[in-house]
Amino acid sequence: MIDLSDYPDEYLECRTAHAWKTSGWWLEQNRPRIYRKTYLCERCNMIRIDKADRNFNINTRRYIPPPKYKIEGGRVYRHTIIAAQITKDMVKNNE
Ligand SMILES: [Zn+2]
Repeated sequence: MIDLSDYPDEYLECRTAHAWKTSGWWLEQNRPRIYRKTYLCERCNMIRIDKADRNFNINTRRYIPPPKYKIEGGRVYRHTIIAAQITKDMVKNNE
């Protein structure tokens, strides 16, 4: 299992759910009937950009991660994230 003991707590929390804030849908500049919704995570500063077409289908979703969010060393499984969260919380709760 990948060692996440040095991975920032806020990033670890965001690996299960971001704290998104958004200002809603806007018309894309110079693109008629293409809509854009930008989200900012208030905890880790991840940016998410959704674009919807004229039929209101979201056809692109892009993420711009904060520095060092990416975990090196292969695929990161959900149980690895949960295990790291539990380990950190158990240590914290016993201090
Ligand atoms: Zn986040």
